[in-house]
Amino acid sequence: MAAGTEFGHGDGRRSYFVRTYGCQMNEHDSERIAGLLEADDLVAAPTMADADVIVLNTCCIRENADNKLYGQLGHLKRLKEERPEVQIAVAGCLAQKDQDLVRQRAPHVDVVFGTHNVARAADLLTEARVSGPVTEILAESDEFPSALPVRRDAQHAAWVTIQIGCDNTCAFCIVPSVRGREISRPFGELIDEVHRLAADGVSEVTLLGQNVNSYGRDITLALRGANGHVPADAVWRAGGAWASGRRTARPLFGALLRAVGEVEGIERVRFTSPHPKDLRADVISAMAETPAVCEHLHLPLQSGSDAVLRAMHRGYTAQRFLDRLGAARAAVDDLAVSTDIIVGFPDESERDFAETLEVVAAARFDSAFTFVFSPRPGTEAAELADRFVAPAVATERMERLRTVIERSARLGNESRIGRIEEVLVEGPSKRDPAILTGRTRQNRLVHFSASEPLRTGTYARVRVREAATFHLSGELVEVTAPARHRTRIPVAAR
Ligand code: SF4
Repeated sequence: MAAGTEFGHGDGRRSYFVRTYGCQMNEHDSERIAGLLEADDLVAAPTMADADVIVLNTCCIRENADNKLYGQLGHLKRLKEERPEVQIAVAGCLAQKDQDLVRQRAPHVDVVFGTHNVARAADLLTEARVSGPVTEILAESDEFPSALPVRRDAQHAAWVTIQIGCDNTCAFCIVPSVRGREISRPFGELIDEVHRLAADGVSEVTLLGQNVNSYGRDITLALRGANGHVPADAVWRAGGAWASGRRTARPLFGALLRAVGEVEGIERVRFTSPHPKDLRADVISAMAETPAVCEHLHLPLQSGSDAVLRAMHRGYTAQRFLDRLGAARAAVDDLAVSTDIIVGFPDESERDFAETLEVVAAARFDSAFTFVFSPRPGTEAAELADRFVAPAVATERMERLRTVIERSARLGNESRIGRIEEVLVEGPSKRDPAILTGRTRQNRLVHFSASEPLRTGTYARVRVREAATFHLSGELVEVTAPARHRTRIPVAAR
């Protein structure tokens, strides 16, 4: 959880600070909020205490999100007493879900806005300066906030949100109620955005959505509903392949991967997250046949027990998950796979958990985000309090799960020893600035030595000498492509 997007630097103008809690989707929303504030003539402050406008972009998916928010708001109360002109805004999922509670527990907050109001961030802050505290939460929006300015933290890599919302109903997840139903961005708009990013020097894009595989299903459903008539903007909305081929209602993610991978200057395409039930053959073949699409698949398993998967409403069995994974591995050479797993879902028995361990061992994951189940108020699973697994049991299961995952992660990393890997440089290592850090196409973390400093965004070939559970170590062989981006991309309304 913790802060993800924290922008710094200031001058004489009013300044802002955005703190992000939660997932990449939230981090990207923070980039949009920062972009809007900069377009409104604010500059980024080096620390929260220096800022004139503080935005806490919240998340209610992860554990303890509310405690962290209210703890932070408690600290900010003192700041507000010392400097009453400071404006405090609470945005994101928790604001969407608990706006009244935020107001009640932190009356010193100036603005509360939800996940569908990001575009109004700067306007609401101005409104609050004139007329006092404002709360604005839209229940749902048909508008995609795609035309908003963005202030990106990294200059060589960018997130591109391809859809918002989710049409699934996983019993543990609050996303459908705070992010609404699935809405896909028009195909042509996404490709234009990727072209602009490439022109700015971005070479790696990560396509973001709650269920990327279903991208475009809503677009094609609407177009197909046009009674056989093909609207003039069909190519813009659904892409040329759909408009000139079988115009059935279907997801377009495979076509999108191919089109993004063809944009000149884009060397790496990543995406997160696909839903295992919707991982279709056309997506797998697009991954296999598009050189820019990285050999990495994040496929959230959640549980290996069919009974638990059913209770979670995940829509697949353990065998079906393994079959889809097998199909992806067979098609995509040298594929690395990561996953998400929840331990201790209500009613999870020892036998259910043993099945999870078996599936995890069979899947040979390269890495995993593992979570002990913790109820999110407002979800179906949170209602099952009498069936929660005892914390000590869940903790002990987590230990066993980690042992199995770490074994396959280490084996996967050890299989790279002696190879020369393409690494995209992320900067100096946090522990030792003399060492550089980067990621391989498989998303493996690499620490390596080089006789020369390399800019973030440089592509290099690195010989792997050693492997640990969570990283590789090696040395520079050669630089294959220098970083192309400018040091700072000016923010402009798009
Ligand atoms: S697919 Fe399930 S877990 Fe993912 S966002 Fe949708 S409801 Fe949540």
